[in-house]
Formats: sequence, structure tokens, C-alpha cells
Amino acid sequence: MTRANVGEHMARWAGGLSVDFRYPIEAEEFRGEFRAWLESHLEERFVGLGFEDLHDPAALATMREWNRLLADAGYAAIHWPEEYGGRGAGLIEQQVFAEEMSRADAPGTLNPIGISNIAPAILAFGSEGQKRKLLPRMLRGDDIWCQGFSEPDAGSDLASLITSASRDGDHYVVRGQKVWTTLGHLADWCELLVRTDPDAPRHEGISCLLVDMSLPGIEVRPLVTATGSLEFDEIFFDGVEVPLDALLGEENSGWTVAVTTLANERAGVASLHLQVRKKVQKLIETAHQTRLGSTAAAEDASIRRRLAEVYLQAEYLKLLSDRAVSGQVHGRPFGPESSIAKLVWSDLEQDIARLAGEIQGLAANSGEWGRERVYARALSIAGGTTQVNKNIVARHVLGLPRE
Ligand SMILES: Cc1cc2nc3c(=O)[nH]c(=O)nc-3n(C[C@H](O)[C@H](O)[C@H](O)COP(=O)(O)OP(=O)(O)OC[C@H]3O[C@@H](n4cnc5c(N)ncnc54)[C@H](O)[C@@H]3O)c2cc1C
Repeated sequence: MTRANVGEHMARWAGGLSVDFRYPIEAEEFRGEFRAWLESHLEERFVGLGFEDLHDPAALATMREWNRLLADAGYAAIHWPEEYGGRGAGLIEQQVFAEEMSRADAPGTLNPIGISNIAPAILAFGSEGQKRKLLPRMLRGDDIWCQGFSEPDAGSDLASLITSASRDGDHYVVRGQKVWTTLGHLADWCELLVRTDPDAPRHEGISCLLVDMSLPGIEVRPLVTATGSLEFDEIFFDGVEVPLDALLGEENSGWTVAVTTLANERAGVASLHLQVRKKVQKLIETAHQTRLGSTAAAEDASIRRRLAEVYLQAEYLKLLSDRAVSGQVHGRPFGPESSIAKLVWSDLEQDIARLAGEIQGLAANSGEWGRERVYARALSIAGGTTQVNKNIVARHVLGLPRE
């Protein structure tokens, strides 16, 4: 093995080993059509914008403009049914879409949580009136949505939530607190889990409300993260009068709505490998560009070994994802693969961040790896913690007893 280019060598080597997941011809036709659309619509000013830019009003306006372009062309939510602005796309088309968006470094919609998690619950349980009123505005990014599930004492054990809603005439009165609500400070609407029957068994006394965030009595307090960004919030509900028609699904059946929402969140892991494989490539470049003494860091034997490890983990993540997608196409629902993929992904993101630190030393505390190094810590908590995912794998893959 020459020492000239670690990235090239690893790509050649793994390319020889990798399983080629071939897409059907229609999916490749869709790729060609969407790639051509991106080439003609994705202006330079949209490229690379993302979640971390949303605190800047100018970036928010630019992302909203991009969101509307996507929506008007039928690309903002391709898995939604056509009657609500989607394309009724299957999983493989969604995968192709995600690959092309990542390849072009195109920003997603303003409503990543709304489009992927909340809308499927509205489609499954909402009235026609709720769908017609709420979905088109979510699709175009006219309204931003947040997911108000977690509370200070209800995270992994979500069914212990205590934010209450009691009926009073033509409305519910909501009292309580949510926390870690991503996009809460920007949100126009919230998918809110509340307790409507305190006497019922835990899972049977919960309801889901679609709450207009401009109602009196709602206070949003931003939480500034360790990266300095404004990403999520605490939300306080002090006697908020929410109309009865805000109920999604049946009263006290909110747990089923929550499970549907979270199942769609987990299905999103199928494209996690796209960003992470790009990061590995970026890290390899960083290793080539950084001097360790008289040579490049990429020449150091220990760093080369670590780079090979993260590279292979990223390829493994892609295979896990392909396996999950292929299983679903053949009628097997998303199962524990999503927990395995989440575990591999969050560990890998943290390994990449650590390795950037080893390669760059103190310089990795700022610049392009600075945010990465701090933010990666959150990934073993968000969307289901590492320990909880390990419990799922232990029970459903290894067949071990409940703890
Ligand atoms: C970046 C980010 C974005 C988020 N966005 C949202 C959002 O938009 N909306 C929302 O509602 N929430 C959101 N959350 C909250 C997230 O869902 C919770 O943080 C998560 O469910 C864990 O809950 P918790 O923080 O209360 O920790 P806890 O559940 O209290 O867990 C504390 C520790 O105990 C461990 N633990 C808990 N139960 C078990 C068990 N049974 N076995 C072994 N170990 C266990 C956990 O793994 C963890 O290490 C977000 C979190 C992050 C980090």
C-alpha cells in the first residue's frame, strides 16, 4: 500500500468488497429527473444552508424560499400522498431523493420534524379538515412545527408525562411544561402530548393536541446549547385554552399517535449514512492537510488505523441502511435495524469528532470541526438514548429477558 492517498486507497479497497444495492430502473429515472431539477433550481445562495443557520433571520428567509421551490415542484415531501402535495413515493425513491439532496448539498425543508414525523401521524389520525388546513402550510414552510413530547421527568419513559389538559366547555385547559423542544422558538404549531385522564393506566390517559403556538398562556424559553446555537426550548403552558377540535385522533388514544410519530422518526435513520460518509471524507482531507511534525497527519500509522476504522464503520452503516430498506421493500416492517443503525451512527459521529481532535489538536476546538466536536455528544441522547436502544437490541435481536 502506498502512502500517497489514504482516502483513495480505502475507497478502492472497500469498493471491491461492498455489496452493490442496485435500484430499479424507475428509481434511476427519477434520479435523472430530480438531478436535472436541482441543477436548474439550486442557486449558490441555497447551497449548504442547514438547521444550524436557522437562528439567523436572513438565512431563515432564504431557506423558506428554497422550501417553497421544493414544495411547488412536488419535492418537499415526496413520501406524502399526491392529494396533499407529495408524490406517494416508495422507500427506494425516498432513498434516491436523499442521495441527490446530499450530493448537491441542498438544504432540506424548514420542517424536518413536521414533514417526517408529525405529518404521518396527522395523515393517519387527522380529520379531513385538519389535513387540509395544516398540511399545505407545513409543506411550503409557511408554518413551522415542533414536537412537544419530552418533559423534565418524562424522556425515555415518555408515558410518565404530566402536562395536563382538562375539558372546559368548548376547549381544553392545558397546564404544564415541555423541554428539549427542537425549533420551539420558531414554531407556529406544536404536536403536544398531554394527560387527559389522570386516573387511567399511564398509556391510556394520554391525548395528542395540535396546538397553535400563538395562543395566550404559552411561554417559550430558548435553551442555548454548548455549541452556542439556539436549537431547542422549554415551553410552559399556563392555563392555555386549546379548542376541542385540536384533538388528533381519539381522546385518551394519544399513545398510539405518539408511537406512529416516533416510528416515522426511527424510519429516518435509513439515510444517516449519507452525511456521515461525507464527514469521513472531510476528515481524511483534514488528515492530509494537517502537519504532525514534519509529515502530514495522514502519514501517521495510528491515525491511519483510526481513519480506516471510521471509514469501515460508515460503510457498515450504509449496508445496515440498505438492508433495512430492502427488507421494507419486501414487506418486512422497520424493526430493530433502526435501533442498531442509531447506535452505530451516534457512536461513529462521536468517534469522528474525537479523531478530528487527535488529528488537529487544539485547532479542532474551533473552525470546521469545532461545532462537530461538541454537538456529537447530543447524538447519543436525541431520538432515543444509547442505553434505551441497547435494551431494544438486547430484547428484540438477542432475545434477552427484560431487565
Ligand atoms: C438534540 C436533541 C433534540 C431533541 N428534540 C426533541 C424534540 O423536538 N421534542 C421532544 O419532545 N424531545 C426532544 N428531545 C428530548 C429527547 O427525546 C430526550 O432527551 C430523550 O428521550 C431522553 O430523555 P431524557 O433527556 O429525559 O433522559 P432520561 O430518559 O432521563 O435518561 C437519563 C439517562 O438514563 C438512561 N436510561 C433511561 N431509561 C433507561 C432504561 N430503561 N435502561 C437503561 N438506561 C436508561 C438514559 O439512557 C440516559 O443515559 C431532544 C433531545 C436532544 C438531545
